[in-house]
Amino acid sequence: MTDSFSSSTPDMFAPRYSELATFMRAPVASDLRQIDIGMLGIPYDGALTNRPGARHGPREVRNQSSLMRTINHATRVNPYELCRIADVGDVRFRSVFDIEETHREITEFVSALARHAVIPLSCGGDHSVTLPILRAIASQPVALIHVDAHTDTWDCFQGSKFNHGAPFRRAHEEGLIDPEKTIQIGIRGAQNDSEGWDYSEQAGMRVVFVEELRERGINSVVEETCAIVGVSPVYFSFDIDSIDPAFAPGTGTPEIAGLATHEALALIRGVRGLNYVGADMVEVSPPFDVGGLTSLTGASVMYELLCILAEAVSQRRPHRC
Ligand code: MN
Ligand code: MN
Repeated sequence: MTDSFSSSTPDMFAPRYSELATFMRAPVASDLRQIDIGMLGIPYDGALTNRPGARHGPREVRNQSSLMRTINHATRVNPYELCRIADVGDVRFRSVFDIEETHREITEFVSALARHAVIPLSCGGDHSVTLPILRAIASQPVALIHVDAHTDTWDCFQGSKFNHGAPFRRAHEEGLIDPEKTIQIGIRGAQNDSEGWDYSEQAGMRVVFVEELRERGINSVVEETCAIVGVSPVYFSFDIDSIDPAFAPGTGTPEIAGLATHEALALIRGVRGLNYVGADMVEVSPPFDVGGLTSLTGASVMYELLCILAEAVSQRRPHRC
């Protein structure tokens, strides 16, 4: 009896509906020096411009992620064999009513991971959280793969320049991303003005609208993405609203005619082998979800991101393979 109460590590052989719901049933981190990839929750949606609820994302994604297993059937990667992976918990907030202070708290949390060379795989939260993550890990401008229905390079909304439609504009202004090594994929949906799209293109970012993606096919866009990123340190940001609401209805700003789940997985698997420094999956809003479908999709996207991050870690640190 004593032993069964002494461990905070979920038993991978226990029934998957049991135990603490950590991300992918990974152990809870006890020592940052002992892990390579830290999965964290960022339960914050104070920067939303539309439907709320993304603050509930991490808890529900953790719940659905207990359905994930270890070996990727397509790539045969087992991330847990390649490196040490743990759930490092949620960012702890003290100021959720203040966007900029909340962002500072996120940067502080991710900086602590970075100091121990722990690669962050985050679960949002609204998309504003990517900016403070980049502040923590981009000591020089990084390349960016951004999959989303929206370019998120818009400007102020209701007086705030840190709303969830603006993180990549701010990241560009702050020199956190290299626009020439940035690609935004899956963009769509009518807007009231073209300002965000124009900003991305004028800054030198590659914007792939969903019609182009469909016309050229995933493989062609994958090839272009790898050519744009090259060997640079690269961050992967995945907004769940890139996926069609038929597969992922639980999100704040749904846009129809999006990616099918098989296209999203093919895209992520296609860009394996790059020099990843972190990734996130954001904008799952459980109150708008149906039967946990969006959280399951989000958890599955996180698992695919985990696989490509683990490969990057093992390529950089061959002695740990
Ligand atoms: Mn977004
Ligand atoms: Mn979006």
